[in-house]
Amino acid sequence: MQTTFQDLNVSTPLLNAIEDLGFIHPTPVQEQAFSVVRSGKDVVGIAQTGTGKTFAYMMPILRDLKFSDQKHPRVLVLVPTRELVLQVVEEIEKLAKYISLRVLGVYGGANINVQKREIMQGQDIVVATPGRLYDLALSKALNMKSIQKLVIDEVDVMLDLGFRFQLLNIFDVLPERRQNIMFSATMTEDVDELIQDFFKSPEKISIAVSGTPLDNIAQQCYDVPNFFTKVNLLNHFLKDKETFTKVLVFVAFKRTADLLFNSLDESFADEICLIHSNKTQNYRIRSIRQFDEGKNRILVATDVMARGLDFDGVSHVINFDTPSFPENYMHRIGRTGRAEKEGQSILFSTQKEQENKEAIEELMGIQIPKIALPEEIEISEILTEDERPREDIERSKNRSGLEYVPGPAFHEKSEKNSKTNQGGSYRREIANKYKKPKTRGDKNYNKRNKK
Ligand code: AMP
Repeated sequence: MQTTFQDLNVSTPLLNAIEDLGFIHPTPVQEQAFSVVRSGKDVVGIAQTGTGKTFAYMMPILRDLKFSDQKHPRVLVLVPTRELVLQVVEEIEKLAKYISLRVLGVYGGANINVQKREIMQGQDIVVATPGRLYDLALSKALNMKSIQKLVIDEVDVMLDLGFRFQLLNIFDVLPERRQNIMFSATMTEDVDELIQDFFKSPEKISIAVSGTPLDNIAQQCYDVPNFFTKVNLLNHFLKDKETFTKVLVFVAFKRTADLLFNSLDESFADEICLIHSNKTQNYRIRSIRQFDEGKNRILVATDVMARGLDFDGVSHVINFDTPSFPENYMHRIGRTGRAEKEGQSILFSTQKEQENKEAIEELMGIQIPKIALPEEIEISEILTEDERPREDIERSKNRSGLEYVPGPAFHEKSEKNSKTNQGGSYRREIANKYKKPKTRGDKNYNKRNKK
């Protein structure tokens, strides 16, 4: 028989909140983490987002957090991005619906004085990005002497973003007697080193063998020759608005994300948003909100940025490229089919990416069903800089001021394929874009939003 939240000995106010949310059974990570976190020992959990890990550490913490009106916070949750601060705060508020709890999210880029005032009012839990947290501690606005529990969520992402130094600084100003609770989607060398250095014989929680695809995700893959043919295929899918209702498109690099964003059909302009780490905070928050609320149907995202985010009802995850780390594929597809909902994942692979795909299939122990490229998809002749042979790039560099337009060595488009809605200037436009990637006004956006 499946465990219930009552079996876990969750307190009544929490049970009521969980019932309001409609959750029936604890997820495996919640089941495993509950007593371990309550024991007070250091805990290391390896779990992907989408497994319910936020509640996994928050349920036992809130279960034992007694009401207090003391000023200094007792629980500190560190997360890598501002977006995640907002999301974790939201989750905590949902869970704490029937208890009296003060929770505050703080992150860089926002007014620090406002945050100082909010901290001074007294908080129980502070959720923070490491840089801002340290600034607040240094300024004495935030007193850390009462912190009993430190949660570090998405440690792998945090270390990826170069936060190790800030983390060490924070450890220095925290009380030595505290419980450390850490969650990471993957076990990297950096994560392991951090655990060895700062954790006292931690209890390990590991959810499913990493690489096991979630059962309720249908997977498909397409062999696609190059970037711009992938764009054509993606455009083809996105036109089907009834099926592709909430689409998360993953790309590995920021510049590819920008190029893709700019290359998608104009007709989707009002439906697409973008997120990667070069975007301003306001831009990112707006993108997430619009996608989450359904105002934008399509979100183009890089791996690191989207890892910790939690979106409801993503109908499709499109892997625009094939990740070279198979684990990243697992993270990506885990964004659909979340918490018992059906989802669909589609993978695009070029010839060069076949090896990556094989590694993913090996990790999962299954073959991803392959679908033939629909006939109506135009095979693009245009190559991105990465796709072009080296000497070609040198040659075009020497023709200063000239756009790169493929020469006669490339085969002509068939008549059928030339009848697309991309207009006569499409090729020139794209060639221009790839030479000088633009980020759809983001620079100006930054200027406008400078405080
Ligand atoms: P997380 O892994 O913390 O990002 O959670 C993923 C999603 O699952 C969030 O939307 C949670 O609100 C939801 N969730 C958490 N616990 C449960 C549960 N026991 N049953 C169903 N959904 C849950």
